[in-house]
Amino acid sequence: MEYKVIRSNIKNIYIQVKDGEVIVKAPKKVSEKYIKEVVEKKEKWIKKKLEEDEQIRLEKTCEKPITKQEAIELKQIVLESTNKYGKSVGEFPNKVTIKNMKYAWGSCTGKRNIAINMKLARMKKEIIEYVVLHEICHLKHMDHSKDFWELVEQNMKDYKKYRKELKKCHT
Ligand SMILES: [Zn+2]
Repeated sequence: MEYKVIRSNIKNIYIQVKDGEVIVKAPKKVSEKYIKEVVEKKEKWIKKKLEEDEQIRLEKTCEKPITKQEAIELKQIVLESTNKYGKSVGEFPNKVTIKNMKYAWGSCTGKRNIAINMKLARMKKEIIEYVVLHEICHLKHMDHSKDFWELVEQNMKDYKKYRKELKKCHT
């Protein structure tokens, strides 16, 4: 477990979780070894706090309004990844539109039109890329079969991580 130690004139050790970071406030005289022991004893509690902290940060991200700049950046990322994954999958959509969608992050129609949810502008680049790849793979497999997921994985080894993160946010 990683943590940052801040030494000061205090009598006891305090552990704090803030912005995804573990901060240990410790008296000046205690040894690094002792601090490590205290942290290890509290590991379960720290992990729980880290998870809570992560959840709060994620909720804040989900609620943030989209700026014009973010929308422009989203368009850029969508175009670049359509090109990149279009080449590697060997399928290109007829049209890609970015719009507000209520129930999905992306969609792909039988006419080979792909739509990407505008709200993805709040997410990090890798997640946007995953959604684009997902829809491009639907150009080959119009379902969520084993073949479909294999194709996704071939093009993005750690896609499961992004899929999981996306599920935590509402569309
Ligand atoms: Zn799908």
